[in-house]
Amino acid sequence: MYDLIVIGGGPAGLAAAQAAYEEGLRKILVVERDGELGGILNQCIHNGFGLHYFKEELTGPEYALRFIRMVEKTRIEFKTDTMVLDVQPDCTVSMISKEEGYQVCEARSIVLAMGCRERARGAIVLPGARLAGIFTAGTAQRYVNIEGHMVGHRVVILGSGDIGLIMARRMTLEGAKVLACVEIMPYSGGLTRNIVQCLHDNDIPLYLSHTIVDIKGKNRVEQVTVAKVDDFKKPVTGTEFTIDCDTLLLSVGLIPENELTRKAGIPVDERTRGAYVFDNMETLTPGIFACGNVLHVHDLVDYVTLEGQRAGRAAAVYVKGDQKTENLRMMTLKAGKEVTYTVPQYIRVSGSADESAPVFFRVGRGILKGAVVVQAEDEKIATFNREHMSPGEMERVALPMKLLSRARVAEISVSVEDTSELLK
Ligand SMILES: Cc1cc2nc3c(=O)[nH]c(=O)nc-3n(C[C@H](O)[C@H](O)[C@H](O)COP(=O)(O)OP(=O)(O)OC[C@H]3O[C@@H](n4cnc5c(N)ncnc54)[C@H](O)[C@@H]3O)c2cc1C
Repeated sequence: MYDLIVIGGGPAGLAAAQAAYEEGLRKILVVERDGELGGILNQCIHNGFGLHYFKEELTGPEYALRFIRMVEKTRIEFKTDTMVLDVQPDCTVSMISKEEGYQVCEARSIVLAMGCRERARGAIVLPGARLAGIFTAGTAQRYVNIEGHMVGHRVVILGSGDIGLIMARRMTLEGAKVLACVEIMPYSGGLTRNIVQCLHDNDIPLYLSHTIVDIKGKNRVEQVTVAKVDDFKKPVTGTEFTIDCDTLLLSVGLIPENELTRKAGIPVDERTRGAYVFDNMETLTPGIFACGNVLHVHDLVDYVTLEGQRAGRAAAVYVKGDQKTENLRMMTLKAGKEVTYTVPQYIRVSGSADESAPVFFRVGRGILKGAVVVQAEDEKIATFNREHMSPGEMERVALPMKLLSRARVAEISVSVEDTSELLK
């Protein structure tokens, strides 16, 4: 019997395992379906990782290696090349590997850290012929950065998520001509720093409120047709133009990998596509915790690490029997005006003077200057001023438990007031 089984050996899973170990758990197993630990970071060879956590600019593999080295010094057990097939609410985990075959392991707690996958062509109903030369940006990233294959020479990118932006720069550095980045929304889905460093610095045009309406070619992509879209995302006739290219990269969103979560009957929030969680990262199934991209799509790995540590520490508290939740008041967090979701969705209010609950959320549109307002019924209980909020960037506020314990309500809301509009 393990104290804890962590599913996924990416930054979230490694941070959770390490934190649980530091809290005293000894029988910890990390299960990873890939041949090595590190998760998606292994293929992200660009820099920009760890600015918040390590106060240094690292590449993805460098960031991952720091945690791999840390966990290697512990007695945490690892099974790589091992795929988890099933999780039960009683913390039984079924897995399969070439070396050990089918196995069922029991644990006292589980941390779900399976990351996310890219939305592919089928998910966005892309028109045009089914040709060679169409890749998701992450697949192209793996080919170029890990397998050493160049995927094309004249490239168009559909979607402006971070992976697409990073690949625009990567393909340029490898000698390809990136002709355009086409985004259906009126704003980019990626970090501002990636738009500047990947597109602007390489003179790659970004077409906002545009989409691809046709793909032509014989065997491989030869041309795409781009058109402007209206407020309802419908192509506007007469605005079409064509781009001759041999490659189309799709960067049209990420989906948390929650098949195991759903199968286990753990309630999933349809807005985040991750489990509903309390502030200690526990799902609504006792003893099962979730963190990282499987919970909600993150932009920065630093926050994935912090969330993983929170989940690992909470799993240790749970296993040691120290989780005294019965007497704590539960508060529901509602996503208010301009906010698309919050994680966590529930807070157990402890009243402890030095504790606070980190709350992550995203806004539904770009806001130049705003105030994040936390409200209990009609009363504003906290306000945080923020500049430059955009749907592509995750926002975070820390709510002190002391403040929450004073609000004698069952529900609070997090909303954003657009103060730049008030100034006009
Ligand atoms: C292209 C790209 C660029 C990025 N750029 C930056 C950047 O510049 N700066 C930054 O801070 N962040 C960046 N990020 C974000 C950051 O890398 C991610 O947020 C982070 O890696 C997510 O960590 P994770 O552990 O949740 O998921 P992952 O890293 O995806 O790890 C999940 C792991 O779970 C394993 N797994 C899944 N299902 C199973 C199963 N059934 N059984 C066993 N194992 C399983 C997977 O194989 C994987 O290894 C970038 C991300 C991408 C994709």
